[in-house]
Amino acid sequence: MEPQTVEGALCPACGSKTLKTTVVEKDLPHFGRAVMMVSKCSSCGYTHTDVVELEDRGHKTLKFSVDSRDKLNYLVVRSSTCRVEIPEAGLELSPGPFSNGFITTVEGVLDRFETAVLSADPESEEGRRRREKIIQWIKRAKDGKERFTLVLEDPRGVSGVIPPGA
Ligand SMILES: [Zn+2]
Repeated sequence: MEPQTVEGALCPACGSKTLKTTVVEKDLPHFGRAVMMVSKCSSCGYTHTDVVELEDRGHKTLKFSVDSRDKLNYLVVRSSTCRVEIPEAGLELSPGPFSNGFITTVEGVLDRFETAVLSADPESEEGRRRREKIIQWIKRAKDGKERFTLVLEDPRGVSGVIPPGA
């Protein structure tokens, strides 16, 4: 399927009919056919990406063990309804009305958590110490020095982890 574009849809953020959505179909072996949707509003700059399967596979929780450096290069497909958690570090990415789906690597997921932790501004001294500890943990994890579990909990069962180049 060639990428398809739909223009003039209603923007959920500003209400203008200036939302442009591009749909790209990706065939991912071991995972199935996924549709990547990228929406952008030319009026307010709102963007939304999602990974969609046409069929609902039902609620699924996947636990992926990152126990070696090469696992950092595995691909993570996350739909916008998927909760992502790393229990060893107390990190969690919860789905919400404005949450985005994405396809990235395990290292890319760590980058997203790092960005989220860095953008938080704890008020207490204890909160700042905790933040610093988590940032150091993420750095070690990105160097392959921490073993951890990537938990993907998806009510639509669409999200998953696949080997690179599969
Ligand atoms: Zn808008």
